[in-house]
Amino acid sequence: MDPCLSISSRNRVVGVLLPLPLASPYDYIVPHEIIVERGSFVQVPFGRRNVIGVVWGGSQGTVGLERLREIQNLADLPPMPLETLEFIEWVSKYTLSKLGSVLRMAMSVPSALAPPKAVTAYKLSPGIQGKCESVPQGLRLTNERKRIIQILGDGEPRRASDIANAAGTSVSVVRGLAKAGVLEVITVAAKRNVPEPDPDQARAILNEAQAIAAKKITDVMDQGYSVSLIDGVTGSGKTEVYFEAIASALRLGRQVAVLLPEIALTANWLERFEASFGVPPVTWHSDLPLSERRQNWLSALDGTAKLIVGARSALMLPYKNLGLIVIDEEHDLSFKQEESVIYNARDMAIVRGRIGEFPIVLSSATPSLETLDNVWRNRYRHLSLSARYSGANLPDISSIDMRKEKLARQNWLSPSLASLVIETLKAGEQIMLFLNRRGYAPLTLCRACGHCLACPQCTAWLVEHRLRDRLQCHHCGYTAHVPNKCPMCQVEDKFAACGPGVERLAEEARRKFSDARVEIMSSDSVRKAVDAQMLVRRMESRKIDILIGTQIMAKGFHFPMLTLVGVIDADLGLIGGDLRAMERTYQLLHQVAGRAGRATRPGRVLLQTYQPEHPVMAALIRGDRDDFMKMEAEARRKLNMPPYGRLVGVIVSGPNQDAVENTSNLLGKTAPRHEGLDVLGPAPAPISVIRGRHRRRLLVRAKKDLYIQEILRRWVFAAKTEKGTRISIDIDPYSFN
Ligand code: ADP
Ligand code: ZN
Repeated sequence: MDPCLSISSRNRVVGVLLPLPLASPYDYIVPHEIIVERGSFVQVPFGRRNVIGVVWGGSQGTVGLERLREIQNLADLPPMPLETLEFIEWVSKYTLSKLGSVLRMAMSVPSALAPPKAVTAYKLSPGIQGKCESVPQGLRLTNERKRIIQILGDGEPRRASDIANAAGTSVSVVRGLAKAGVLEVITVAAKRNVPEPDPDQARAILNEAQAIAAKKITDVMDQGYSVSLIDGVTGSGKTEVYFEAIASALRLGRQVAVLLPEIALTANWLERFEASFGVPPVTWHSDLPLSERRQNWLSALDGTAKLIVGARSALMLPYKNLGLIVIDEEHDLSFKQEESVIYNARDMAIVRGRIGEFPIVLSSATPSLETLDNVWRNRYRHLSLSARYSGANLPDISSIDMRKEKLARQNWLSPSLASLVIETLKAGEQIMLFLNRRGYAPLTLCRACGHCLACPQCTAWLVEHRLRDRLQCHHCGYTAHVPNKCPMCQVEDKFAACGPGVERLAEEARRKFSDARVEIMSSDSVRKAVDAQMLVRRMESRKIDILIGTQIMAKGFHFPMLTLVGVIDADLGLIGGDLRAMERTYQLLHQVAGRAGRATRPGRVLLQTYQPEHPVMAALIRGDRDDFMKMEAEARRKLNMPPYGRLVGVIVSGPNQDAVENTSNLLGKTAPRHEGLDVLGPAPAPISVIRGRHRRRLLVRAKKDLYIQEILRRWVFAAKTEKGTRISIDIDPYSFN
């Protein structure tokens, strides 16, 4: 790409990148009446369509001038910032995704590029100033009318409703003045109104540890790129600390992006932000209505949105002058996008900070090994908060050895845990029971022949959701009613639910604690942010005694009266044992445990486990995270696994099993031979069919100093794929399914 695009010569030709799966920009002629620069949004003909793209650089020079087409229009928008262009290039090179696919993520709202809607507005007619002496003779000047004339005296056109609001009149008074010729009716482009957060509003007064941490971040706010990790126990006030960082970036006139993992969590976050900065933040996530998406995208581009909080995709917005990114719960897996452009927003945020030369703040009570390792190597700054703000102790964690408990069939609450639940209920306190399984039962089996109900499109069991009276596949979304008879042996009514999900656990809890008010929190019961908000309210106002939930209730929530947390199956996450199974189980259970005893009453956490001596359980009980992570680091280092080595997943998928096998075998045969690199597989993926697509995987393990992208490009991009098969590359994989 030509970095200094010349726009002076006649018959200029520029490369325009389109938000489509294309590897590079295409050349277009710039007509004389248009002046473009790098980043300009332009409309160009593409095949039989018109597409809006971005002027990416100089001519690619691959197609003769006589065959080129002309740019049709220059959009009336600020150009995409050069930093964003550079970032898109970087993400594309790192993830080996097509440049146009990455651009697509950065301009995900096509309608934002259309001209803004026009609205009717009023201003003073020519010859009339903001003083009332200038009005036509004979016009009766009421106080209401005077106020309107004064307000419009600044020459700014306004909508009738805005004028009426400001003047404390009705809209008809405004219209009356227009009729009398004092006001003129015009149409103007609809204005976006983005309220500005106030960095100087009174916020929480930080305690000493918090103040020290905050100062360490604000001290380097104007010193370019840096990464700081706020490593604080649950309830230590990490949010308050990074609010100070946000205030300091806002004072410098910069935009701030905050990435949060679960959108269900944001209701609480939004309120806290508003209380601290006076206005609600601009948000960005997939549930946003189109009109808001459009507005918020534009406000990121023209810089009017000073703070944007969102899911991982908020990282890709074309910020005008981004100057700080905060990543809350940096260890969270939802920062990894698993389809289309496969990327990790936490890692890419670091790159974004380097490109823009500004600080990054990571926050977590259980930082990822990747991040901790950077701290150990002094690449990231470490700010620690070792005590809860409330002064409360961290909860006391212990295990219940399930080998010694006597449980009736179809029961999952051990007598030891049940008696603590009763004790807690008697004390008028709240309980959380954690089971990371949605639905009623993970498996439905025919007792006549042993057949298990499976998804017709995936190699996965169907999960019974009794509340919705459906079987559901958690991989493709397929749903069906529970059949009357077994599809295998045709025997009727012999189905048995095997194992518990949260719905079944709730049933058991209602049976055992009949007076208690039991509710479920899972992605099925809180589909929208507002559902989560209502549930949190009910919990806060103590309309719930026992909350039973999956991992979505593990993070962030602060329920002062919650004193007992019971983990029903602490071993669940260790099954399967992928690379990060231990780390992840530790993080998840630690987060869940962190919900207990956050205020004045002490908290207790019980882990039901069949392996109480397991290193993960032992570390949780001892409360010794650092020892555990050091041990985990050692194990990974020995195996040259991340973060000490690099992994890349190569997944071949397609509707035809033979074609998938042939393509993956070919990849296996042509695999690169390189010092410091080995390729495992191909082998069928653990979920070998999803949505009817067969899947086979290869796994590349390489030394960190190899330029793995170049090796992959030469190997994978050169491979001939059979018709209908697709190869996707997952750099730094987190999922091995
Ligand atoms: P973390 O993110 O570390 O779990 P939070 O930032 O959510 O912790 O803080 C936990 C609770 O303590 C919240 O209710 C928060 O409002 C309160 N809190 C933390 N620091 C302060 C402070 N300096 N002043 C007042 N309240 C605070
Ligand atoms: Zn399925």
